Amino acid sequence: MLPDSLKNLIEAFKYLPGIGEKTAERLTFAVLELDEEQVEFFSDSLLDVFKNIKKCKVCNTLTEDDVCYVCNNKLRDDELLCVVEDTKSVFLFERLGMFNGKYHVLEGLINPLEGINPEDIGLSNLIDRIHNEKFKEIIFAFKPSIEGETTALYIKRILEGLDIKVTRLASGVPIGADMEYVDSLTLERALNDRKVIE
Ligand SMILES: [Zn+2]
Repeated sequence: MLPDSLKNLIEAFKYLPGIGEKTAERLTFAVLELDEEQVEFFSDSLLDVFKNIKKCKVCNTLTEDDVCYVCNNKLRDDELLCVVEDTKSVFLFERLGMFNGKYHVLEGLINPLEGINPEDIGLSNLIDRIHNEKFKEIIFAFKPSIEGETTALYIKRILEGLDIKVTRLASGVPIGADMEYVDSLTLERALNDRKVIE
């Protein structure tokens, strides 16, 4: 019979996506191989993330500050807004370093079948921002999906009448879950070839 402390850690690892019983067991036994300093770093990091990570008041991206470093950066192009479905997309764009505008992170995409409606994804913050700031172009960088399409068209309709260009990345870029595999050249091309949404 496994000691309780080991059982608990196995259960804890299973909270994470993609980790089943076998993997959780393997990771738990791997923890036994770490020294005390490493284990403390591990557990402190977990708590730090929980306590210190919050959402940027302006763009909703994850940050440790009230306002994130992109929103605070005066050198960024404040006429260009890239709207994404999660913070992971922001990290990807930043890692590839191909985009110099601002971001706005939605709380997911509209998906009526799953009961996710426009009011559930934080659209009002985005619309307020668009009215109060001076964007000339809004780029949608969602994963190619019905939900991404629905969300883009919905927002586009709200913006009708404003003097703002609404575009999306050129197709062929697997954004979202698969976006971490995009290389900078592909993303640069998708940005340069972006299409106006009619
Ligand atoms: Zn921000």
